[in-house]
Amino acid sequence: MSKSVRRLQNSARNLSKMMGMYYTYNKIQAKKGKFTVWIAIVVPIELLKGFDLVIAVPENHSAMCAAKKLGSTLAEEAESRGFSMDLCSYARIDLGSYFGKGKNSPIGGLPKPDLLISNNNNCSLISKWFDVYHRKYDIPHYIIDVPFCYDTQEKIDLQYIVKQFQDLIDLIKKLSGQEFNLEKVEEAIKYSNEAIEYWKDFLNSAAHHPSGISAFDSFVHMAPYLSSHRGSPLMVKHFKTLAEETKELMKEGRYPVPNEKYRLLWDNIAPWHQLRAMSSRLAEYDANIIYATYTSCMGTIEGEIDQYPLDPGKPLESLARIQNSSVCPYGLELRFNAMKKMIEKFDIDGIIFTNNFSCKPYSVMQYDLMRKIKNSFPRVACIMIDVDHADVRKYNEEKVFLKLEALLERIDSLRSLDKT
Ligand code: SF4
Repeated sequence: MSKSVRRLQNSARNLSKMMGMYYTYNKIQAKKGKFTVWIAIVVPIELLKGFDLVIAVPENHSAMCAAKKLGSTLAEEAESRGFSMDLCSYARIDLGSYFGKGKNSPIGGLPKPDLLISNNNNCSLISKWFDVYHRKYDIPHYIIDVPFCYDTQEKIDLQYIVKQFQDLIDLIKKLSGQEFNLEKVEEAIKYSNEAIEYWKDFLNSAAHHPSGISAFDSFVHMAPYLSSHRGSPLMVKHFKTLAEETKELMKEGRYPVPNEKYRLLWDNIAPWHQLRAMSSRLAEYDANIIYATYTSCMGTIEGEIDQYPLDPGKPLESLARIQNSSVCPYGLELRFNAMKKMIEKFDIDGIIFTNNFSCKPYSVMQYDLMRKIKNSFPRVACIMIDVDHADVRKYNEEKVFLKLEALLERIDSLRSLDKT
C-alpha cells in the first residue's frame, strides 16, 4: 500500500507566491485606476500583453474558491438570487462572490472591470454569465466567436478569428486610451513557448514506471498559466522549477505512488474540492491518476498531446491557431485521437470518464468516446463517475469510490486474462 506524500515543495512555494502576487497586484493596480478586463479562460492573454492591463479570470477565481472549500457557500449566494443549481458551478461561485460583494471569496472578490471578454468555443454559458456583469456594471462585453473543430482548423476560420482579434485590439485602444504594442505580444509568445516546453517535460514524467507525477500535481500547477503570468518570464521560471524538481525527486526514487500498480487517466475538469482526498485514497490502493486530458491540452492543437509551438513572427495567426486548444470545442474524432496517444504513450491501465454535472460541453460525448476507446483498447478498463468539479454538494465520495474500486478490480481481471 502506498501512502501519498508531500512532494514538489519548491514548486508549491513558488506557486503560492505567484498566485498571491497576482491577486494582490491586480487589486492594487485596479484601485489605482489601471484599465481592468475580465476574461474567459481561453482568451489569449498573450494578445492582451500588447497593452498595460489588469487581467482577471473569473473561472480561475472560482476554481480557487472551490479548492479552498468555499464553492458551495458562494454558489448558494447566487442560487438565493434565482440562479439555477443546474448552471455551471464556476458561474454560480463567481456570481455568488459578485452578489456577496466579495464576502467568502479568499481574495475578497475580483477588482471591478472596465471590459469583459468572453468566447463561445468552450461553452455558450460563459457569454451569458459575463452578460450578467455587462448589465450590472454597464460595461462593454466583447464575445470572440470561435468555430467548433471537427477536424483540422480551416484557414477561413483562422482568418475569421484573427479579424476579431484586430477588432478587439481597436476596442481596447478606444476604451483604455492606450497604444497597442505588437512587440510585447511577440515577446509574450516567446515566453509562452518556453513555458509550455517545460510544462510538457513535466507532464511527460508520467511515462516513467512508476509515474513521476500525479495528475493532481498538474491540476494545481496549471493555475498561473491561466492568469496574467502567462507570457511572462515568471511563468517560464515556474514551469522550469516544476520540471526540474520532478526530475530531481525521480532521481532520488521519490514518486507520488511508489508501489504503483494502476496507471489511470482522468477525463474532465479537476475535482477541485477532492484533490487531496481523492489522490490519497487512491494511493492506498497503489493507484495513481497519472495524466489528464484537462491539463494535457494546454499549448496543443486538435487531436494532439505534444506542444504546438507558436510563431512569434505571426503573433495573431498563432494565437488564433490555438484558440481551440481546450478539450470542449473538439469533436469526437479529435478527442479520440488525443486519448489514443495518451493511452499508448503513458501505458494507461484504466480511464476515469467523469460525467461533470457542471460542464456539459466536456461531458456531452463521453459515453460515445468511452465506447470507441473500449472497442479500440479492449485491455483498458473504463468507468464513468458522477462529479461536479466545483460544487461538493453534487458529489458522493462513497458512491464514486465504489466505482473506482470496480475499475481497479476490472484492471486486475483483465490482467489475469492476459496470463491465461
Ligand atoms: S460549463 Fe464548462 S466550459 Fe463552460 S464555464 Fe463551466 S466549466 Fe467552463
